[in-house]
Amino acid sequence: MSDNCIFCKIVRDEIPSNKVHEDEDFFVFHDIRPIARVHYLVIPKRHVESLAHFDAADSDLVGRMMLLGARLAPQQGLSDGFRTMINTGKGGGQEVFHVHAHIFGGGEVLPKV
Ligand code: AMP
Ligand code: ZN
Repeated sequence: MSDNCIFCKIVRDEIPSNKVHEDEDFFVFHDIRPIARVHYLVIPKRHVESLAHFDAADSDLVGRMMLLGARLAPQQGLSDGFRTMINTGKGGGQEVFHVHAHIFGGGEVLPKV
């Protein structure tokens, strides 16, 4: 846990969020500025700054984070598919330094990356 981290505050329910899912290790909530009809974030409850801050011992956690994002997609209206994005570091466009996977889609067909 990190005192000043906005996502840690969401996990602790000190800041409201539109929650999609919560379990022992993860918290999932809708992005406050969606870039698609459906857009949610999967975060580990443990404060980890970015994807680059995980180590080999976290492989299982990282894998489960991605699988959870995919598992929740159909019930969020993304049966057709979705895009997954993890911004890492300033150079990767990361703005909130608590690692999170964006899952988004729906509506218009997303442009090719
Ligand atoms: P990133 O640029 O990958 O760090 O993405 C941070 C994301 O967090 C952005 O898409 C924001 O819209 C989203 N965000 C920031 N604050 C909140 C919040 N309080 N609740 C939900 N999403 C948020
Ligand atoms: Zn945090």
